[in-house]
Amino acid sequence: MELSVIVPCYNEAQTLDEFQKVVSEALKKKKITYELIMVDDGSSDSTMEKLELIAKENKNVKVISFSKNFGKEAAMLAGLENATGKYISIMDSDLQHTPEVLINMYNKLLENPEYDVVASYKESRCNEKPLRRTLTSIFYRINNMLSDVKLLPGASDFRVFKSCVKDAIISLPEKTRFLKGIFSWVGFNTIYVPYSPAKRVYGESKWSITKLIKYSLGGIISFSNKPLIFTFIIGIISFLVCFINFILMGNLSNRTIILLIGILMLCIGIIALYISRIYSNLLSRPSYIIRKKIGFIDKENK
Ligand code: UDP
Ligand code: MG
Repeated sequence: MELSVIVPCYNEAQTLDEFQKVVSEALKKKKITYELIMVDDGSSDSTMEKLELIAKENKNVKVISFSKNFGKEAAMLAGLENATGKYISIMDSDLQHTPEVLINMYNKLLENPEYDVVASYKESRCNEKPLRRTLTSIFYRINNMLSDVKLLPGASDFRVFKSCVKDAIISLPEKTRFLKGIFSWVGFNTIYVPYSPAKRVYGESKWSITKLIKYSLGGIISFSNKPLIFTFIIGIISFLVCFINFILMGNLSNRTIILLIGILMLCIGIIALYISRIYSNLLSRPSYIIRKKIGFIDKENK
């Protein structure tokens, strides 16, 4: 098996036939032996029925179905844990990631054996809504300011990499995952190639603004304790300001007290984010639960 392509699918019933067809044809044309690991992330539409039909027709298609929606990160992890190819790729199922870019990245990896990962980054975000584009660019700026792992703005999960990179990623025990950061953390020699995501043909992006903010905050606290240091510094500064204020005026004005409460709530909020991360890792619940697997040759295959 040359290439494992991991495909998270959440309510993508409309695109799956076309997706499977274009990707399979492109890989067969290049004579690349492949498996498509399609992960149904607890879809509520007919995604799973579609995947069962596709797997019946195309023996290169394997399916993992989750018991509920666990999120794209969990779907990618399940794919990685079940991939057997010499090279691995992660690709969206909504046709925004094209097989041409996939094959281009794969060829680049073969041509440059000293590299371990070929990663794509979004060169243009013109297909995204302005609010989302602005929030994303703010996220990259804040992340690169605060986090110990730097991300290339527009970095994407759409990559091709050697199986040693996959082994390194799945060896990490953390439960709440931020794969873009993990890729950067595990290292390995990486080449970046620009790409422009195609417009979504069917359905809508599954990422609401709230989901995106939660994901971004999770990404930052996964790889940085700078926000905690920030609460300490802001604590010292506000203490000094209040102390001087008190010495000079003999009391604290209402405005100062309101400001102090605001600062305090902000600091508690930051600490709460870390506590909730410790709590969820302590509970040690699995990242996903599998309801059904199709096409895998192992004892779990039911
Ligand atoms: N996805 C998933 N679980 C989720 C949300 C999304 O598996 O909870 C999949 C989705 O089906 C798609 C990919 O992740 O294949 C990227 O999602 P989407 O297209 O909504 O994100 P965007 O392209 O807007 O970043
Ligand atoms: Mg998409």
